[in-house]
Amino acid sequence: MSATTDAATFKSSWVEGLVSSYSRLVAPVPDAHGVMSARSPEQGRVSVVIGGGCGHYPAFAGLVGPGLADAAVIGDVFTSPSAEQVYRTTRAVDGGAGVLFSFGNYTGDVMHFGLAARRLAAEGIDSRTILVTDDVASGSTRNTGARRGVAGGFFVFKIAAAAAARGYDLDGVARVAARANAMTRTFGAAFDGCTLPGQREPLFTVPEGTMELGLGIHGEPGLRRVPAQDPAGLADVLVDTLLPELPTGTSGRTAVLLNGLGQTPYEDLFICYGQVHRRLAQAGLTPHLPEVGEFVTSLDMAGLSLSLLVLDDELADLYEEPCQTPAFTSTPPASGTVHGPPPRAVADTAPRTGEAPKSGGVAAAALAAALAAVEAHERELGRLDAVAGDGDHGRGMVRGLSAAVAAARSADTVSITDTGDTADTAGRALLLAGTALADAAGGASGALYGLLLTEIGGVLLEAGPAPVTTELLAPAVDAAFHAVRELGGGAVGEKTMLDALAPFSETLSEHARDGTPLADAWPLAAAAATTAARATADMPAKRGRAARLGERGQGHADPGATSLALMVTAVADVLNGHHPATTDSSSVPESR
Ligand code: ADP
Ligand code: MG
Repeated sequence: MSATTDAATFKSSWVEGLVSSYSRLVAPVPDAHGVMSARSPEQGRVSVVIGGGCGHYPAFAGLVGPGLADAAVIGDVFTSPSAEQVYRTTRAVDGGAGVLFSFGNYTGDVMHFGLAARRLAAEGIDSRTILVTDDVASGSTRNTGARRGVAGGFFVFKIAAAAAARGYDLDGVARVAARANAMTRTFGAAFDGCTLPGQREPLFTVPEGTMELGLGIHGEPGLRRVPAQDPAGLADVLVDTLLPELPTGTSGRTAVLLNGLGQTPYEDLFICYGQVHRRLAQAGLTPHLPEVGEFVTSLDMAGLSLSLLVLDDELADLYEEPCQTPAFTSTPPASGTVHGPPPRAVADTAPRTGEAPKSGGVAAAALAAALAAVEAHERELGRLDAVAGDGDHGRGMVRGLSAAVAAARSADTVSITDTGDTADTAGRALLLAGTALADAAGGASGALYGLLLTEIGGVLLEAGPAPVTTELLAPAVDAAFHAVRELGGGAVGEKTMLDALAPFSETLSEHARDGTPLADAWPLAAAAATTAARATADMPAKRGRAARLGERGQGHADPGATSLALMVTAVADVLNGHHPATTDSSSVPESR
């Protein structure tokens, strides 16, 4: 949340944007802080009115529309709306068949909705109230009255609205809503706090490396603080907490909601869901129409929650009712859909780095050394790329080189001699490695580095069973330089890897002419590349993603030029008979 957000106008501003963007589904309630379905009121049908403080979008205003709530009353951030606002909003959507109120169990909301209900009753508008009490962190199974309402409210709202849409009377709607609430359990975890509009400091913080279990959606304290878990580990914690809380003897279809609290990447939510699904299946529960996404957030809180609703036939049937709202749309499920457990994720088969090369000769050893160097500088390369680019260069190179090493090791290299492999065996290994690198790394640098390796490999392969000398390698590197320049469409001086590759290639060619052995020529070329890579810090970017940001990268070296210098420096040690790749990668010194 930005500190520049104006707290005074926050609510009216975001609601205005919501109703103007989604005017096909919702409209502002006249003279009230509320949002109503564009189809409401519908005469002769029960209305469902939800609400609470704002800062929880999609709850509550994003869940208004045909098939879901008729209206949401919108309070200030984390503050219940007033009775007056509830009253006005309800009058706007009343269709003459009564009103079902549903909202989280918080004192302010209970009082204000309660006052509004009394005033409406005096005017002949009948209502029932179903409090959402799904959060197992805030009350025991025996004392559900103490429980607060969190993401599981979505199930209650959805089922109540479906019943209203199907023509249930007010008591019928209240009955299924109460049953949905009674069968719903939620538990969540937070990794970091949230910041109120206009504030600079977060409302609370969660210490680095830990997470808070059972935290409320307004920052209410959690049950306990534990070491942070990966998304799949967190799935186990959530499932292990919820299973004993479910009604005894539960089995069969269960609605599942994995809810992000505002700052959790959807990818992490899906990783977590995969494990939730497996665990539920093992426990005899069948996830029915599972939902993964944001339903009840807490501004920009990092964290997630898991809600389970054990379905009977009536609840399942109602839960399938289609709906359309700004934040959530559901269509009837295709008949016969079987929800089996998802396949296990394919394990990352990249070889453990820092291992001694077991095969593949000098090319594999050189690539392993390059990998160790890039791994030791992964964060630094990422930071350099993040200055003006997308920050992925370090990770991409580690991924690409890991695959390259594995491919080179798989090459058939039998003729290792005292002077290293013959040109053709090294060439074959580099051809495989280049293809694997481009495939695994992706991005601009993946294509360019992949080409670099396959070009060198192709020239070496053609040389046959000759020793790999400076005279042989220099034209191979020169050919690779030209190929990379052509593919990238760039030139030297544009702040790319070409700025390191050009002096590397030129130095190697100079020493080829005066007959310098490779073990001496390569380190000199690597030194030239290192100097040139550092000098890219003074250049403005003209190529790649970084170019779009113009001058911003000035003062920082180009990531691709830096990784090239790191790699050729590491290879120099291999050619000199040292094998840094066989040592722990943490022993590679930081360059800064
Ligand atoms: P991406 O730009 O796709 O995120 P990376 O971050 O892995 O790829 O690599 C960025 C590096 O790739 C840059 O620092 C630069 O050295 C190199 N690069 C990008 N585009 C070109 C190009 N057209 N020619 C030469 N090198 C390039
Ligand atoms: Mg990048």
